[in-house]
Order: sequence, then structure tokens, then C-alpha cells
Amino acid sequence: MYGYIGKVLLVNLTDKSYVIEDLPEEWAKQYLGGVTLGARYLYRLMKPHTPAFAPESVLGMVCGVTGGSKSLMGARVYVVSKSPVNDLWNDSSCGGSFAPHLRASGFDAIFITGKSEKPCYLFIDDGKVEFRDATHLWGKVTSWVDDTLHEELGKDISVFQIGPGGEHLSWMAAIINDKHRAAGRGGSGGVMGSKNLKAVVCRGTHKIDIFDNSEIMAANKKCIAYGNPGERGEHVMHQFRTTGTSEEYGVCVLAADAPLKNWAGAPDDMPEQYAWNLSGPDMDAKHKVGQIGCFNCHIRCGAVYKVDYKNYHLEHATRPEYESLGALGSMMLNGSSDATVICNHLCNEYGYDTISCGDTLAWLMECYDKGIFTKEELDGIDFKWGDPDAIIAMMEKLCACEGIGVPLQLASRGCARALGKGEECCVTANGIELPMHGGRFNPALIRTFQYDPTPGRHIKGGRGVPFSHNPDEVKYNYEGTGKDDVAGLLEWEWSGLSGVCSFGNFLLPPDAQQQMVYGVTGFKFTQEELDILALRSFTMRHAFNLREGYRRKDFVIDGRAYGNPPMEKGPLKGITVDNEKLGDNFYGELGWDLETAEFPKEFCDRVGGLDYIYPDFFPDQI
Ligand code: SF4
Repeated sequence: MYGYIGKVLLVNLTDKSYVIEDLPEEWAKQYLGGVTLGARYLYRLMKPHTPAFAPESVLGMVCGVTGGSKSLMGARVYVVSKSPVNDLWNDSSCGGSFAPHLRASGFDAIFITGKSEKPCYLFIDDGKVEFRDATHLWGKVTSWVDDTLHEELGKDISVFQIGPGGEHLSWMAAIINDKHRAAGRGGSGGVMGSKNLKAVVCRGTHKIDIFDNSEIMAANKKCIAYGNPGERGEHVMHQFRTTGTSEEYGVCVLAADAPLKNWAGAPDDMPEQYAWNLSGPDMDAKHKVGQIGCFNCHIRCGAVYKVDYKNYHLEHATRPEYESLGALGSMMLNGSSDATVICNHLCNEYGYDTISCGDTLAWLMECYDKGIFTKEELDGIDFKWGDPDAIIAMMEKLCACEGIGVPLQLASRGCARALGKGEECCVTANGIELPMHGGRFNPALIRTFQYDPTPGRHIKGGRGVPFSHNPDEVKYNYEGTGKDDVAGLLEWEWSGLSGVCSFGNFLLPPDAQQQMVYGVTGFKFTQEELDILALRSFTMRHAFNLREGYRRKDFVIDGRAYGNPPMEKGPLKGITVDNEKLGDNFYGELGWDLETAEFPKEFCDRVGGLDYIYPDFFPDQI
């Protein structure tokens, strides 16, 4: 089988056993890899209603289809599990170097269940599976663990690990690779911690059989040329190579696209200079000392930063992404790049998702401002809007998991519920904190935030961020949105299927990802087949949640996110997005039940590859 190792590793940490399965060839073609292949396995391996932190819960790490090939930007690994935040489907992807090392170690995917009695790590060394003691690694930050394991095992490994955040079972814990790349969202790091699993370490010499390397090379050549002077990708590729995703931060804050003051503020709530302080050009001038990127990427959109601020003298911090800048910056009216870089660094070191972490601190700041929490309850921290030292101090409490840092592990809604106050200030979709392009600025995003099987994501499909560039009469017209919404969904779902970094949606020529997948696997899909694949992927993730008993009414989004009540000032004044109409249009276009979001059997028959869910959904029709 071209493009695959053809082996999947199933691990049980309770009795330290494992099984190696052959990857069915039919599954490779139907589900390709990444999230979709992960959804197929998780549905089979995980019984319904298993809590995310139960030993029987399953955590999957699945290589994207292009992983292990020479495809540029094609080294994504996809983590699948339940989210501890809402006990629903969760997926999150990560760049770095783990995906090619996973394949080199001899597997396309690993699924982990059970719970180790003591902290352990999994070492997969060229097909050999070892359970190793991780007592000396437990409690340590990710850079220390990465360095230590490289010293112990050699340079040719890749470490996918949790930090102390995952050990503390935080609902916003990430899984970190290469010290700074994160599968961040939804708390899968907490799932890993609940299994006493500190790290998965891979190395090896296995190679996938490539169908046609010349196709991959031709696609790569086109991708590089796409950024040449006069080509369509020239501007955006230049931007990503210099300032990465941080370039647009200032513009987005001043337009009120990026949220301010826990989604309740307007740009004039802070000095304009604060927005520019955290924008790529200003930050780079002050902090940048190097360039970094994921395995085999010609863009290398990351940067190494140094920072000297009070007790922090960091030589190898990294540039916060746009999302991290919004969450740790404007959400708290913070204009200090020093504090933002330090908090971003702490998230990498302690293994937290920067979006949920920043949003949670912003929620707490609003609660403090409103007197819901006192200074004593916050361990003496005067947690005022925009105070960089207070933000760092609260971040340190979270990382140390002490005082207020203990309930904060549960993120905003979990913390509010645990302490019995402050839930009215939460802004989440099904409990998951929202990313940094606002739904009142771009109403199309509200449908994605609310109704995607992984709620509150900016890299799930729909009409997406570019739709916000339309004039208001187009943006805020809620009639007939379903067709475009579903088309956008399919485009982004395909990007997740291809195994290529989702920035490839605008940094690569339109057909490059398909050509890469063809070169790797030999699978040549028509546009109609691609759409079906993408639709299948979305339906599989959705089916996982339906099997849990969730229906449309259970997918809730907090009012402030869509303007209920509307803002009373600023560029978003008076806007309330008709989120239910957007949902009706979306489900209507799919032909699903508007009230329950259930799909009919005819739909599943047409999409194919879904027979495995029939016993649960259509027991009388098979
Ligand atoms: S564009 Fe950035 S995130 Fe994407 S693969 Fe390249 S370095 Fe990684």
C-alpha cells in the first residue's frame, strides 16, 4: 500500500501491553489519515459515555497522510480524544517533527488506553515498543524534558509530551512537540496526564512506499514558485516568512475583529499603541533573534525571541502566534510585549493552550473588576485590566497549580462552576474558549464556533475569516448562507484530511495538496470525490457526538460571542448575529434534521464509508 506504513499500534497502559494491527487498505482510501482515520478508530475503540479522564478513555495520535514524505508543510500529527471540557469529540493538530518520526518508528497511528500506575513514557524505537519509567521527568517543564530525553536517547528522536499542566489534569492542557509546537485545544494534554503518560518518544528508519516522488517534487516546485515576485502568493508568503501570523494583530484589534476586554471591550478601551506593541513588526524589532519552522517547511513562519524583563531573561522564547497575542494581549487590555512573550513561553513550558489560557485569565480579570472575586481570593494579586506584572503573577499561579491556580486548571467555565460564581462572564462555545477572530465582526464564524463537532475553533470549516472582508450588507445578511457555508466546510475539512499545514489553504497553490496526496498514495480524486471525503470526515466527527446523546440544542454558545446583548459602543455596537438562522441554513443545506441535527440514512448512503455507525443510528434499516 503506497503512502502508509500499514501498521497501527494499540497500547494499554494499565497492564503495559500492546497490539499491532494492520491498517485496512479500504480504510486508508476511505479515511486517508489524520482526524478522519482517528475518528474511525476512536468510534470503534471507545465505548459511548466514557468520561475523558476514565482509564478506558482513548487518546489517539495519527499521522497526516503526507507525513513521512517529502511534501512541503506536510508534517502534521492529529490528536483525537474526548475533551474533558464537555466530554465530546476533540481533535487538535500539531506541526513540528513528530509526524515523520511516528512513521519512521513503524506506525501510522498510536491509540492509547488504560492508566499507568506510575508516571511513564512510551518509547517506540524502530518498531520496538517500550514502557519506560518517567519519574525523573514528572513535574518538569517541556524544554527540560525534551533536552533530557535527547541526552538519554540520542539526537534522532522526537518527543511529544505534556508539561505540568497535563499532569495537573488541566482542561486546557496541550501536548507539546519540539518545545514550542502544540496540539493545544480541547484539553487532550489533560487526557494524556490522566493516564500518567508523560511523553511518547519516536525514532526509526521505517519509510513509506511513495507512489510517485516526481509528483511530490513537482508540487513542491510549484509551492516554492508561488511566492516568487508577481505570483499570487508573493505577499502572503513574504508576510509569513517575516512576521508570521503576528503581522495582522494591530489591524485586527483596531477593527474590533480581535476581541478586547473579555469580548466586552472596544478598541478605544486601551491606547492605540498597545495594539502596535504586539504586532509582528514592532515585536520583531524588539525581540527577534532567529527563525524557526516545522519539519520540511519552506516558509518557517516561527521566530525565536529573547526577552529581558524583571526576573525573566529568556534567550529561546518564541514569537506568540496571532491567536496567542489576542488571548494574552487585547483580551486583557495588555500592551506589554514582554509580558505576552513571557506568558506564551510559560504556556509552552508548562503545556497549556494559549487561547484557552489567555481567555480564562481575561474572564477572571472581568470577574475581579466586577467584584465577583476579591483580591484575597486571588492570592493577593491586584488583577487589574492591562497590568503586565499582575498577568505574569497569575500565570505563575496557574503554572504552579497553587492557590487560585488550582481551580483555574478547569478553564473559565469549569472554574466558574467549581467556585459557584462568575459564569455570567464566560464566553465559550460548549465550554471551550473562543479563538481570536470575533463572530460579531465576522458572523459566518458563529456557525462554525457553535455547531462544529469541535466547538470554538478558528481552523474548522465554514465561510471562514476572509468572509469578514465583505461589506456589512453582505456580512450581516442571514438569508441563503448554507451553500457557501457547506462549501467552506468541505474546503477546510479537506485541508485536515491532506495532512498539510492548514496555512497551506492560502500559502500554497490551490491544487498542490491534491498533487502531494496523489504523489504519496496514488489516490487521485475528482472534485466530487474530494467533497464526499470531506463530508464523510465532518459526519464522522459529528456522529461521535450524536452517539453520546448530544443533539442540536446541546450545542450552545454564550450570548456575548454573538452579540446578545449587543455592544453599546465601538465598531460592533448594536450587532446581534442570528446564530440560529445560520444553523438552520447550514443543516438545511446538508439535508439534516433542523431540530436535532441528526442525519438521514439516505445521506449516509450517499456519502459512503459510514456503515459502521448504522447499528447505532439505523438499527432497523440494516
Ligand atoms: S507554515 Fe508555519 S505552522 Fe505551517 S508548516 Fe510551516 S512553519 Fe509549520
